[in-house]
Amino acid sequence: MSDIDIRITGRAGRITFTRPQALNAMSYDMCMAVDAAMRQWRDDDEVALVVIDAQGDKAFCAGGDIAALYDTGTKGDFAYARRFWRDEYRLNAFIAEFPKPVVSLMQGFTMGGGVGIGCHGGHRVVDDSTRIAMPECGIGLIPDVGGCHLLSRAPGYLGEYLGLTAGRMAAGDAILAGFADHFIPREKWADLIEMLEASGDIAHVAAHALPAPPSSLGEMRADIDRHFGGGSLQAILDSLSADDSDFAQKTRAVLARNAPLSMACTVEMLRRLRAEDATIRQALDLEYRFTWRSMEDGDFLEGIRAQIIDKDRNPKWQYAGDTGPEAVPDAVLNHMLAPLGADALTFEGENRQMKIGFIGLGNMGGPMAANLAKAGHDVTGFDMADVTIAGVKMAGSAAEAAKGADVVITMLPNGQILRAVAADIIPAMDKGATFVDCSTVDVDSARAVAQQAEEAGLLAVDAPVSGGTGGASGGTLTFMAGGSDAAFAKAKPLFDIMGQKAVHCGAAGAGQSAKICNNMILGVTMIATCEAFALADKLGLDRQKMFDVVSTSSGYSWTMNAYCPAPGVGPQSPADNDYKPGFAADLMLKDLRLSQQAAESADADTPMGALAQALYAQFVENEDGKGMDFSAMLPRFEKRGHSE
Ligand code: NAD
Repeated sequence: MSDIDIRITGRAGRITFTRPQALNAMSYDMCMAVDAAMRQWRDDDEVALVVIDAQGDKAFCAGGDIAALYDTGTKGDFAYARRFWRDEYRLNAFIAEFPKPVVSLMQGFTMGGGVGIGCHGGHRVVDDSTRIAMPECGIGLIPDVGGCHLLSRAPGYLGEYLGLTAGRMAAGDAILAGFADHFIPREKWADLIEMLEASGDIAHVAAHALPAPPSSLGEMRADIDRHFGGGSLQAILDSLSADDSDFAQKTRAVLARNAPLSMACTVEMLRRLRAEDATIRQALDLEYRFTWRSMEDGDFLEGIRAQIIDKDRNPKWQYAGDTGPEAVPDAVLNHMLAPLGADALTFEGENRQMKIGFIGLGNMGGPMAANLAKAGHDVTGFDMADVTIAGVKMAGSAAEAAKGADVVITMLPNGQILRAVAADIIPAMDKGATFVDCSTVDVDSARAVAQQAEEAGLLAVDAPVSGGTGGASGGTLTFMAGGSDAAFAKAKPLFDIMGQKAVHCGAAGAGQSAKICNNMILGVTMIATCEAFALADKLGLDRQKMFDVVSTSSGYSWTMNAYCPAPGVGPQSPADNDYKPGFAADLMLKDLRLSQQAAESADADTPMGALAQALYAQFVENEDGKGMDFSAMLPRFEKRGHSE
C-alpha cells in the first residue's frame, strides 16, 4: 500500500506512514494493515520490537480519514463508520497490550487516530515539533481511540482540560500528561532507529533521551485543577464564568466553540473511568458507545461538515445556547453512554461474533456454513436450491444474505456463476466488509471479482479449499488464500473454524493459482493410482496387498492413502459408497480445464495435466463418469485392455 510501508528490518517490525501530503491521516486500510502486521510480529521470534514512524516534518499522523465516514454517514450508512471505529479500537487495545516493546517517534501533529497508534505503546518519543491533541470535541465526537484512557490517567484534571479544549501538547506537556515518555531531538532519530533495528535492544531509547523540556501545561495546573474538577460540564462552565482571570475567560471562549454534547459526555466518561481505575478495554468500550451513536444521535456529521466539508467553521451544535453551551440532560448523557448489548465492542480472546452471509450451500458450502453457525457466528445463507442447514437462517436472495454482513462467503460451482453472484451482492454489501470466495474458479474470474469488490470499498480474498466434503464437515479444510494482508487477517478466524490450515499465498488470484496446481497433481495422481490398481489386478495382485505396499512405499499419495479408489481397501472413501461423490468427476474435469487454461496463458508445459484433462473429458462426456466420484476412474480402467 502506498500510504504505509510495512516491513521487517533486522530485529524490528517496521511501520512507516508514507502519506505526508495528507498529514499521514489514518485510513481504514492503513489501520487494518498495521493490525495484520502486528499480529504476525507478535508470534515471530525474529521480531524483538516494533518501531513506528512517519515521513514528513509536519505530522506523525494528524487523525483518522474522516471524509470517508462523512460520505457514508450522510447517506444513512452508519455501518462503515462503526466498523472502522470497532476495528481501529481493537487495534488500539492490541498495541497497548502488545507483548513486545513498541516504539513510536512522533514529530509534528499527532492527533486522534495518530494518538491511538502512537500513544499506547511503552516507548513514546517526542521532539520539539511535537503537537499532540485530542480534538474530537471540536467535531462532535469524544476523545476516542483510547484517548479517554490516557486522559483519565493524566495528573489532576488535566484530562478534562485537554479533552474539552482540544489543547495541543508540546513535548514537555505530553510527557507530563502521560501521552509520551522520552524527549529525543529529531536529528538523533535515524541513528536510534538504526540501533533498534540492528540490536532489537529497547535500552537504546532511554539512552538517547534528554531531560523533558518545561511544560506550559504544568504552569497552568493550579488553574486547571481549580476549574475542571467539578465532575460535570456545567460545573466546569459555572466555575470558569465566576472567574474573570485571563485563563478563565480564554478557556471559556474555547469551550464555547466545541460541541456541548461531546464535552458533557467526555467529562462523564473521564469521571467513570477514573472512579473504576479502568483498563484500556473498558475505556474503548465506553468510547465506542458514544461513537456508535454519534452519527444518528450526536453531532458528528454536522461537526465534519463545518470543519472539513463546507469549512464554514460554524457548526450548529445541539445544546448550544445564545450565550454558550446549555445543560445537557442526564437522560441524554445516559443514552449516549448506555451499553450497546449485542453491538458492544469486543476484543481478542472474547467472543467476536460476526454476521456472515453464505451463498452456495451445496456439498461443501452447507457443512462449512453449519460449522460457522456452530461456532457462534450469526450466519444467513442463500442457495438456488431449497436447502436447510443447521443453525443457518435462510434469506430470499443472495443480496439479502449479503446485506449488513461483516463477511460474505461464496461457495459456487464455477467462475461464471461467481461473477453473476458477485455483481448481485457487491452493491448490497457494507463498505469495509470482506468478500471471501471459496469456490474453485479460473484465476481471471477471481481477480476480476476481487477488483470489483475493492473498487466498492470491500476487502477481498480468493480462498479455494482442499479436503473435500469430509474436510468441510469435519472443519479440517486447507484454505489457500489470495488478497491483501488485511483481508486475509479478517478472514483468518473463520478459516480457523472451517479448516485446519490457511496459507496466505499472495495477492488476489494467488489462492486460485495454488488450488489449480494442487488439483492438477490430484487429477494426475488419481489416474496413476487407478491405472496401477487395474494393472495390479491383471498381474494377479491382491488389492489389499497392493495398498499395504504402496501406502508405505514411494508410490504413496493422498489418492492412495486417504481416498483409495478401490472399494473395501484403505479408509472409508466414495469407492465404498458406489462412487457417489465426494468430489465429482465433473468438478475434477473443471479444475483440470482451469489448469490447462492457466498453463496456456502462462506458457507452461504441462503434458501430464493435459492428458489427465483429456481422460476426464472422455470419462465425463462420452462414458459414464458424469455424476460419479472422480475416483470412479478405477472401474473404467478395469474394463479396458492395453490397446484401447
Ligand atoms: P455443489 O454443486 O454441491 O454446490 C454448489 C451450490 O451452489 C449448489 O447448492 C447450487 O444450488 C448453488 N448455486 C448455484 N448457482 C447459484 C446461485 N446463482 N446462487 C446461489 N446458489 C447457487 O458443489 P460443491 O461440491 O459444494 O462445490 C462447490 C465449489 O467447491 C466448487 O467450485 C468446487 O470446485 C469446489 N470444491 C469442491 C470440493 C468437493 O470435494 N466437492 C472440494 C474442493 C473444492
